[in-house]
Amino acid sequence: MTIAGVDDTDSDLLAAVRSGDTAAYGTLYQRHRAAARQLAFSLTRDPAEADDLVAETFARVFATLRAGRGPLAAFRAYLATTLRHVSYHRARRDRRLEFTDDLSRYDAGEPFLDPTLERLERTFAARAFQQLPARWRDVLWMTEVEGAGPAEIAPRLGLTPNAVAVLAHRAREGLRSLYLQQHVAVTDQPQCRFTGERLSGHVRGRLSPRDAVRVSAHLSGCATCRSKAAELTEVDTVRYPTYRQRHHSAPTC
Ligand SMILES: [Zn+2]
Repeated sequence: MTIAGVDDTDSDLLAAVRSGDTAAYGTLYQRHRAAARQLAFSLTRDPAEADDLVAETFARVFATLRAGRGPLAAFRAYLATTLRHVSYHRARRDRRLEFTDDLSRYDAGEPFLDPTLERLERTFAARAFQQLPARWRDVLWMTEVEGAGPAEIAPRLGLTPNAVAVLAHRAREGLRSLYLQQHVAVTDQPQCRFTGERLSGHVRGRLSPRDAVRVSAHLSGCATCRSKAAELTEVDTVRYPTYRQRHHSAPTC
């Protein structure tokens, strides 16, 4: 067994943890605890609670990895989404302690989430996040997870606040398209391939005019692709995981 160290990528370290290298998890912890702590504090506004939340989150992720599950990459995104979930469940647990017969939470409009589906969503979200260019990932992390505003981020990226806002918008749109596209299984029908690869763009209204015409023409004649497009439209309206708002129903987010 090779010892994973500080020069390894997160993905290398994740692989090492899976294969039993506990020290590799220590490196991941050192690398990401400050960001996790910052996020935890933004959620709890209480230093002690934030520390608890970070500890519980790292422990859970560790258990998940040791069980052979969890992320292969995009550790930080996974950590953040897990932290949000832990925070949410802790808040619920606390609320349940307050109300002995708590029916109110069923009326709160919280959607029911199938755990399997949720896990799948998480995979999709992490995979989509991982595919984004590094600069987009950075700006998403800062805006959606750290909750920083354009003016705050601008000097960190060497941009004007306006350019940050534009970049963040593009990155969110990029994440959303990639995330949606994850829901479309690669088709083995050659005649459906062109449309299949562009369905998320179609749903988001972001195709070039020429591609849009070709996709629409195909959809009018192909029930399979039409139903996939309808599914995506539903995913787009119901399940899009912004790292910030969706912590009630998100992929551990
Ligand atoms: Zn088709």
